[in-house]
Amino acid sequence: MAQSLPDSVSTTLDLSQDSHIHTRLCNHATGEMEEYVLAALNKGLQTIIFLEHLEEKTVYFERTWLTEADFSYYFGEGRRLQKEYRDRLTIKLGVEIGFNPQAVDMLREKIARYPWEHIGLSYHYYHTGTEHLNMVSRRQKNIDMLAALGADKVISDYFSGLIQGINSLNCNAVCHLDAVMRHYPGLKFNASHMEQIDRILELIKQKKMSLEINTSGFPLRNEPYPGRTILKKAMDRNINLLAGSDAHHPDQVGRYFDRLPALLASLG
Ligand SMILES: [Zn+2]
Ligand SMILES: [Zn+2]
Repeated sequence: MAQSLPDSVSTTLDLSQDSHIHTRLCNHATGEMEEYVLAALNKGLQTIIFLEHLEEKTVYFERTWLTEADFSYYFGEGRRLQKEYRDRLTIKLGVEIGFNPQAVDMLREKIARYPWEHIGLSYHYYHTGTEHLNMVSRRQKNIDMLAALGADKVISDYFSGLIQGINSLNCNAVCHLDAVMRHYPGLKFNASHMEQIDRILELIKQKKMSLEINTSGFPLRNEPYPGRTILKKAMDRNINLLAGSDAHHPDQVGRYFDRLPALLASLG
């Protein structure tokens, strides 16, 4: 059964909806779309949002996003599943836009071209001048090279990029807000980063967007992305929250949603 929030929490968060699901189409997840649908039914969820990776002009040694052919399969199979499971599960076909300051026009064009039912904004890849480094990766090469550029600078460029993304693209939600350099030992946001975060929360509120509570953070640091301090700020501003598992395997659908009622109650 899907969880619900205690009455004492004034924030509304629909725990019967998983708003962030990947499939094998992105090249680094496993499982067919239908396996995720079945997993969601098993968990008692009522709605899932597929949020497949879209990147433009990203130069990286492996493709972690969908091609145009993948997206046409995605919509074909997605429509079939929407019909077949109509009575049991609401399925939305969304996209996780990976922001790239060098590709704003192309991203806009892709947003306009497809009938997305939900658009999440993320920022994964940092441009070094010659290539991209993955800011959320656990791969040592990414971590070392980003650290060499200066963690504070990367983090501050990351938040500026998100601000630019929010202002230049029409998106519905911001995904895993504080996941930047999440595998970097001793990661710490300074006062100016916290000001950027406040600015982002204000923009989310102004533009009537949602903030994702990405539960993939729990096994790594015992709190979601974003963590408690930022979530509290979002709740104080009455920002709409969406629970997302960031599932990359069918078993991960709805993961750790059972921890959210207590977490929000402790903040609310
Ligand atoms: Zn992914
Ligand atoms: Zn992401």
